[in-house]
Order: sequence, then structure tokens, then C-alpha cells
Amino acid sequence: MYKCAVCKEPIHANINTVGIQCERCGSKIFYKERPNVKKVVKSR
Ligand SMILES: [Zn+2]
Repeated sequence: MYKCAVCKEPIHANINTVGIQCERCGSKIFYKERPNVKKVVKSR
């Protein structure tokens, strides 16, 4: 899953396609969305 780096719009198209643009803002900068895993450590 990729997201546009500008408007955070999820990119549904194949990121490997040449010349892909964000459907919303036309940006060509994307980043791979990582599952936001937060490790919560409770310290006592
Ligand atoms: Zn965008």
C-alpha cells in the first residue's frame, strides 16, 4: 500500500507503473505505508 507524500491519498494503482501520478494532486512522490506499530511499554 502506497500513499501520496503530498496529500496522503492512498494510491490504488500499480506503483511500478511508469509515470504514475496521484489521482488527486498529480504528485509523483509516494511512500510506502507502514503499519503503524506502536510498542507501548508500561513501566512501573
Ligand atoms: Zn496526492
